[in-house]
Amino acid sequence: KRSGLGQIQLYHREMAEAIEKRVRIEADLRYVIENNEQLELYLQPQLNAQRKVIGAEALIRWQHPDFGFISPAEFIPLAEETGLIIGLGDWINEQACQIIKQWQQLGFNHLVLSINVSAPQFQQLDFVDKLNSLIRQHDLPKGSLKLELTESVLMQNVDDVINKINELKQLGIQFALDDFGTGYSSLSYLMKLPFDVLKIDVSFVRDMFESPQKEAIVQTIVQLAHNLGLKVVAEGVETEKHFDYLSSLGCDYFQGYLFSKPVAESEFRSHSLILQ
Ligand code: C2E
Ligand code: CA
Ligand code: CA
Ligand code: CA
Repeated sequence: KRSGLGQIQLYHREMAEAIEKRVRIEADLRYVIENNEQLELYLQPQLNAQRKVIGAEALIRWQHPDFGFISPAEFIPLAEETGLIIGLGDWINEQACQIIKQWQQLGFNHLVLSINVSAPQFQQLDFVDKLNSLIRQHDLPKGSLKLELTESVLMQNVDDVINKINELKQLGIQFALDDFGTGYSSLSYLMKLPFDVLKIDVSFVRDMFESPQKEAIVQTIVQLAHNLGLKVVAEGVETEKHFDYLSSLGCDYFQGYLFSKPVAESEFRSHSLILQ
């Protein structure tokens, strides 16, 4: 009985600590967004089949003074729940435009920057307007920015989503459907949307040689995409064997630890030069 009570007390203490940490992280996240501190956009190169860097995906990093590195897999969902994703998304978009601007000035005109956009961000009524003014302000060329959306973005009226995507495409923005195959939307629904690229999720690529099902899924996604006139990006390419196999399937672009982890922008630039 006593140990039972002890268990309950321990459980309560752990719960209280978890809640306390969450409250703290939320408050700190609000602070760092407003003050432009501790956050950084890292870049992970995307390569073509000739192993030439054609662009990068921007992935956010938060270096917290007390907790150390906090994964976006932890704080992005929290930002979405609390509404902080709006301010954070604006910050990410601004940073992304600055990076592209810099590339232009340095003569890396061929690079495309992909950024992740959360559902609540995309659903903002002024999302198109805000991006439009950012693009004008930084004088970005058409085709230099790509938005990665997941199925969760699509949980609203499909015609509204299509209209929004088309408006943004007129501004020269490209679209990738991220984490393809991991959600619950029907194919016919997904295929109504005017994407340029499908991204095969890390979870399929990483384990494809251990799982015949995953290998079949990867093959099917590449074929499906090509039949629909879309390009395919494989993420989670960790080994030469992955790369060779995906190339043989006709996969268009590749991203993964085989080439580079996500790195700071300055490191990416020296990297992409070497890999040219
Ligand atoms: P995601 O968009 O699917 O990003 C791919 C994740 O796979 C990244 O994790 C990346 O670092 C990781 N990855 C890349 N190559 C490999 C590989 O070869 N092997 C393995 N095992 N993993 C690889 P990360 O950076 O921790 O991001 C996690 C998720 O957090 C992202 O998944 C995305 O959903 C979200 N996220 C990250 N940055 C942002 C952002 O700026 N905005 C929004 N809205 N979400 C973001
Ligand atoms: Ca992504
Ligand atoms: Ca994801
Ligand atoms: Ca993914």
